[in-house]
Amino acid sequence: MFRFREGLEILKGYRAEEGAWRIKLDANERAGRFPAAVEEALRARLAALALNRYPEMSQQRLKGKIAAGLGLKPENVVIGNGSSELLAALCHTFGGAGRKIVVPSPSFSMYPVYCQLADSQPVRVALEDDFTLAPDKVAAAAQDGPASLVLVCNPNNPTGGLTPAAAIEQILRDVDCPVAVDEAYGEFSGQSALDLMAKYPRLIVVRTFSKAYGLAGARVGYAVMAEEIARAVEKVLLPYHVNALSLAAAETVFDLAGEFGPGLAETVAERERLAAGLGGIRGVTVFPSATNFLLFRTAPAAELVQELAAKGIGIRDFSRTPGLAGCLRVTIGTSAENAAFLAAVRDFFQGRCPS
Ligand SMILES: *Cc1c(COP(=O)(O)O)cnc(C)c1O
Repeated sequence: MFRFREGLEILKGYRAEEGAWRIKLDANERAGRFPAAVEEALRARLAALALNRYPEMSQQRLKGKIAAGLGLKPENVVIGNGSSELLAALCHTFGGAGRKIVVPSPSFSMYPVYCQLADSQPVRVALEDDFTLAPDKVAAAAQDGPASLVLVCNPNNPTGGLTPAAAIEQILRDVDCPVAVDEAYGEFSGQSALDLMAKYPRLIVVRTFSKAYGLAGARVGYAVMAEEIARAVEKVLLPYHVNALSLAAAETVFDLAGEFGPGLAETVAERERLAAGLGGIRGVTVFPSATNFLLFRTAPAAELVQELAAKGIGIRDFSRTPGLAGCLRVTIGTSAENAAFLAAVRDFFQGRCPS
């Protein structure tokens, strides 16, 4: 009855379960409250905002802070309504009819959607059986395409693994098109491609305030790139695409980034504790993670998700995703949440095979 835009029929809308979980470990959000100093600063800053005014058009304040921290210029930074908007904008900037964009698979499920929204063709490069990324396969796919953009998620969601800096550099060396590295979980990994920025003008690093900095609800991300690319990306973004509340929240959090250090260390420690606990359960295989979540594989994946849900614990089920048979993803929560999750998983397996 309606004549929708051509190509829309192949797109599936993003759908994540929105359960009212007692323990919510399904979306890789930061656990717990903000550090007290951050909470106080946020409250004061947001209360003082003049919401009758449009936000700062050039976003210079936030760009300046981010650039200064990296020894770059504000012109090297693009701010987005979540890093999602920037990933889509990159596809709109480099994609278009007949163009190819290389994406790893399995990886962030939205990459192929952003490619298709930009009328471009996603070219999937399969991860190895152990979920590592082979840089030569990425480079070959990009050169064969030839692709106009490569997207790499590092560390990778939902597998959690970290591609070494040398492998990222190999991709940059061996391809001719821009390479965007999505570091949504970079703060947990202790590694960043930002160090390679000066050497490779084709490198784009995409980061977000949604994960380590706990601003998922505010929707703010940023990307660092050559000035020439930044000018092009800003053409596909709408004016005032990031609202004043979110910009103010991100500026405040960025100024107080140091306050998040102890929480980050705690999340990493909790991740290792939980990985050891889960790995000790017969019938569960845990994959190495450099993020704030763990991917694990178990034969009765669907039943386990169901039992956890019945106890009010939400995790993400990837067991029917191609390449991820039997895989589930759990976000690292507070230590109490992680303990409750682990106890529920142990109960499940004890109930199945009484010893
Ligand atoms: C969460 C996530 C993002 C997007 O986060 P925003 O909230 O849009 O900044 C981007 N990439 C990956 C891999 C993610 O997991």
